[in-house]
Amino acid sequence: MYLDDSVRKGLLDRLRASAGDRGRRVLLTGATVVTMDPSLGVLPTGDVLLEDDVIAAVGEDLRSQGAETDAVVIDASGCIVAPGFVDTHRHAWETQLRRVMPDVDDLGGYVTTTLLGYAPVYRPHDMYVGTRLAALTALDSGITTMLDFSHNSRTAAHSDAAVRALVDSGIRGVHAAMAPHFGDWDKQWPADVGRLQKEHGNRLLTFRIAALATGEIAGPDLEYGPRLAAAARELGVAVSVDAVFGPASSQAILEWERQGLLGPDLTLIHSTGLTPDAWRAIGDSGTTIALAPTSDAQIGLESAIPAIDEALTAGVRPGLSIDVEVALASDMFTQMRALHAIQRMRAVNAAYGTDAEPRRISTSDVLDFATLQGARTNGLGEVTGSLTPGKQADVLVIRAEDVNNMPLNDAVGTLVLGTDARNVDTVFVAGQVRKWGGLLLDVDLAALREEVAASRDYVLGAGAGAGAGAGAGA
Ligand SMILES: [Zn+2]
Repeated sequence: MYLDDSVRKGLLDRLRASAGDRGRRVLLTGATVVTMDPSLGVLPTGDVLLEDDVIAAVGEDLRSQGAETDAVVIDASGCIVAPGFVDTHRHAWETQLRRVMPDVDDLGGYVTTTLLGYAPVYRPHDMYVGTRLAALTALDSGITTMLDFSHNSRTAAHSDAAVRALVDSGIRGVHAAMAPHFGDWDKQWPADVGRLQKEHGNRLLTFRIAALATGEIAGPDLEYGPRLAAAARELGVAVSVDAVFGPASSQAILEWERQGLLGPDLTLIHSTGLTPDAWRAIGDSGTTIALAPTSDAQIGLESAIPAIDEALTAGVRPGLSIDVEVALASDMFTQMRALHAIQRMRAVNAAYGTDAEPRRISTSDVLDFATLQGARTNGLGEVTGSLTPGKQADVLVIRAEDVNNMPLNDAVGTLVLGTDARNVDTVFVAGQVRKWGGLLLDVDLAALREEVAASRDYVLGAGAGAGAGAGAGA
């Protein structure tokens, strides 16, 4: 926000002093409000009132209705107020291995280096360090909900550490636990998800079972099917299935359809190279889809083309996801821009030389995927993903008059095509301020840097001994 330093400091002091007060109200005024609620749309100038952990009201002039009484009033003019982004899949534990393989050859190279090489040497502490770093980075770039596909749950202590990292970061977390692909583990999964839920479950944290579509990479233990579906039902949790691509996964999806295992409580990630039949089954059942545009393209998963046209044709509006930072960027802006460009390229290319009209998606579509559809995909459609009164107060204030965004002509276009993490001024999660004035709060960056480097040094050293690095590419 464009405030004097002293005003900004005074507001932060008031926000912190009142953080635990019941009925605490925060009023954001004079912003362009991009609600992502289909019935509220975009308010060229408007106010958003937060009360405790929820959005109490959204309107053009809440001050005239008395909203500023007893509220901490924040002048957000020159800014866009929007819902926080929702990441539908990333492997947060790998984050201290950031960009160890920026030019990864293929999926085999990734699997060999990361899952076979480094994952087995991880201690619970390293799970904590990687996961916390991912969550803090997500918050810094405006992602307020992150589904952590935590596929290195070697022991209960590994899972506890990953969950604690989500809690300590203050993010809205979805911990989707999966046993590791390779190496020793305690066979505590998936039953241990019940214990995690009991011990750690709260307003900000939900749980899922994570699984693979087929046994191709890691054998039958991790393969989704009747056994894991029953376990999930018993625990009352949803399931996220990774590595969904190609003919074998398509076969599996049709089998799950026959077994009655498809539905909104199942999320299929990637979904590249699936057959039209598999897409029909997905669409018919309301199964949710988490696209991972940059990993599909860069790691070259099956057809390597994000399955956006296939999803839309099947009637599915997907969420977006980050996947792995070993080879990819960490933020939602990258995902939105990649998908927007790729789909429009496909549409125009398919129509080129014909009389057909290209069916191109819009910036509003990708912003919808990155927010409301992501929330729906994560089973949190009633909780977050839009600035809808009654939903949780997961709110961003984006500086729209910074050098890369001025002048503000179109708020949705600015969010999707212009903005990056530097413009994310303020982040609220459940009404609590996590980033303020462009800086993450409650994080000692020097200490974090040391902790991350020490964990990285240990993992790279121990992993090299275990044979990692062979598939890292040139
Ligand atoms: Zn993945």
